[in-house]
Amino acid sequence: MARIVMKFGGTSMAGTERIRRVANIVRKQQAAGHEVAVVVSAMAGETDRLVNFCREANALYDPAEYDVVVASGEQVTSGLLALTLQSLGSKARSWLGWQLPVHTVEAHAKARIDAIDSDKLTASMAAGEIAVIPGFQGIGADGRITTLGRGGSDTSAVAVAAAVGADRCDIYTDVDGVYTTDPRIVAKARKLKAVTYEEMLELASVGAKVLQTRSVGLAMKEGVRLQVLSSFIGDDAIPADDLPGTMIVSEEEMNQLVENGDMERQLVTGIAHDKNEAKVILTRVPDKPGAVAHIFEPLAAASINVDMIIQNVGRDKGETDVTFTVPQADLARAQALLEDRRGEIGFNRIITDSKIAKISVVGVGMKSHAGVASTMFRALSDRGINIQAISTSEIKISVMIDEDETELAVRVLHTAYGLDAGDEA
Ligand code: ADP
Ligand code: ASP
Ligand code: MG
Repeated sequence: MARIVMKFGGTSMAGTERIRRVANIVRKQQAAGHEVAVVVSAMAGETDRLVNFCREANALYDPAEYDVVVASGEQVTSGLLALTLQSLGSKARSWLGWQLPVHTVEAHAKARIDAIDSDKLTASMAAGEIAVIPGFQGIGADGRITTLGRGGSDTSAVAVAAAVGADRCDIYTDVDGVYTTDPRIVAKARKLKAVTYEEMLELASVGAKVLQTRSVGLAMKEGVRLQVLSSFIGDDAIPADDLPGTMIVSEEEMNQLVENGDMERQLVTGIAHDKNEAKVILTRVPDKPGAVAHIFEPLAAASINVDMIIQNVGRDKGETDVTFTVPQADLARAQALLEDRRGEIGFNRIITDSKIAKISVVGVGMKSHAGVASTMFRALSDRGINIQAISTSEIKISVMIDEDETELAVRVLHTAYGLDAGDEA
């Protein structure tokens, strides 16, 4: 007998018919003798709909009230799944974020899970009841409802798995695993049998939304065994233990898989894209110590994450342009904050552009091999794709390009690194 946390994403929860299928998959796991807890997302599209309502109500919305609105999607699906399970004869109940509780810290709309009281959950699971937990939500130090940032139900699931000491956390979604790139963009993307925590963390952080970044970081830290698999399986489904999903593994496990011939080592493991960033250019910023700090301190204080930063070499008159990216969702707030400090920072104009995309290639192989970056630059330039900015880490290279060229760039790079299905030796 194992203790398993199962998480179902938005597409799996989209409508009562699909929820019934989810209920059957859950019941099958329980019938196989496992203790189960389930974490659910809102129905597909629901969170976007709720976010739009907030924007329409108030473009500079208060994140605490935003949380009240957007957390409701998961409340609906958790209740519906519990009802469906009951209708099929299972013992089940929902546990809202404040009922467990799921304690969170830091900013509203992007809160971080600090601790989950697991007593009620383990008691419920041990009694043969199926605990259904709405993902994405928690309770803040102020006693108010919080949400964990988009895609946060993955993190809820991993945190629940860590709290109850689960043997595995299964993330059921609308694809049957982690691929070399988004299979919706590249038909020749290949499914990976396994991917290391480190690579998955990097892929997620640069836009591979199949897992939320924090969920991978948490799983790595807490040693949670994480699996990505499809919920679109037949009613006579084989148990999850035998499903060919993707396991997220440690480097040692990966080395073992390579040694056994189960995986081949690639220079680049995956390619991701992110269209959710916006570019901000501040022109004619004084080229002197402290200028950059004046720009980024207020953004940090407002919990706005800045990603790529470029400061041009000073032009004449001791002035320079500073370019950086922020999440599109934070652009309006960032702009307002910078305008407020125009005098202090001393810039001339703010130019913004949301029509950009970041394309990243990720692979641990890069640590020990040169030439990965030049392959990228050559492949993009051969297709006339202009690079506006570049950033790198030990196992990743990212470029900023025009948003319209996203799909083309991903396809071209997938081919350039020999990742297309059918290319393998
Ligand atoms: P859920 O609602 O189940 O949380 P998401 O939409 O958040 O699902 O994540 C699943 C989606 O992630 C897939 O439909 C796919 O389009 C996208 N995706 C992006 N990159 C990858 C990748 N490397 N491997 C698999 N899926 C990916
Ligand atoms: N429903 C939330 C979102 O769409 C959380 C999640 O699905 O993981 O971002
Ligand atoms: Mg998701």
